[in-house]
Amino acid sequence: MTGKVYLVGAGPGDPELLTLKAARVLKHADVVLHDDLVSTEILQLAPAHAQVRNVGKRCGKKSVSQEEINFLMVTLAASGLQVVRLKGGDPLIFGRVGEEIAALRQANIDFEIVPGITAALGAASTAQIPLTHRQSSHALVFLTGHSASGADPTNWRALVSLGATVAIYMPGHHYSDIARKLRAAGLPAETPCAIVSRATTSEEQIFSTNLEDLNDAPRLPAPTLLVIGEVLRHAGHRFLPEEPGVGTYWPPSEPSLAMDTGPELSRSSRARLSDEERGA
Ligand code: SAH
Repeated sequence: MTGKVYLVGAGPGDPELLTLKAARVLKHADVVLHDDLVSTEILQLAPAHAQVRNVGKRCGKKSVSQEEINFLMVTLAASGLQVVRLKGGDPLIFGRVGEEIAALRQANIDFEIVPGITAALGAASTAQIPLTHRQSSHALVFLTGHSASGADPTNWRALVSLGATVAIYMPGHHYSDIARKLRAAGLPAETPCAIVSRATTSEEQIFSTNLEDLNDAPRLPAPTLLVIGEVLRHAGHRFLPEEPGVGTYWPPSEPSLAMDTGPELSRSSRARLSDEERGA
């Protein structure tokens, strides 16, 4: 009997943001092939007999190529196993799932996609950012920062004319490139920006600034997401304590700064610290 592959979203970090369906599928897995950005709490949902393998790119070891991942999924499922391919956030967003789907289709392997909460939605919920707003934003764009430097297919003018909230995944530290392109496309210098690091984990940090000063933003620990748009003026009071100021941190303690591309997400079993725990 042939097995099946489940392409599953693990959510942005907080284990409680996993869907019930993802949890059920994991409980029946024979093999879990997961990315780096997946917490231990979530991996522990797999049964004791399941093989759990990190096929992520930043596990400090030689990375597993996309072709190898495709091969593993196909051969394991063909041998009758239930394979869970577990990805951070949502599997359909910046997750190379298109290549995996093509390989599964070509090999005639049955598969199913289980969505997850993407990083931008996780980050927006904890920072209390309304991603759309009747007065300030009618569209939401997910961009990858990879294209912001070097060869860049993004039509920044079109993006600015949309008046969209922009969530930039994998922004790296190309802040000056991004700011320059957006300003050249007509976005005002005072447009608010936020860098959200390790959203939804107990290590979450947010740095709030504007387009003009974006380049001076600190390098917060990966993974980080850059959110740009007028909607940030409606963010939670903890995020913008006094006024839409420049260079404010939340939590308001000393920031921890990134050393490199960053380790895995928090493995803490606590989802988020309450205000009391933070001493707020
Ligand atoms: N499929 C994922 C995105 C994968 S690309 C999703 O839907 O969220 C990896 C990028 O996602 C990271 O470089 C970062 O920009 C973003 N990201 C993932 N988890 C994050 C988190 N907890 N906090 C901030 N950004 C995150």
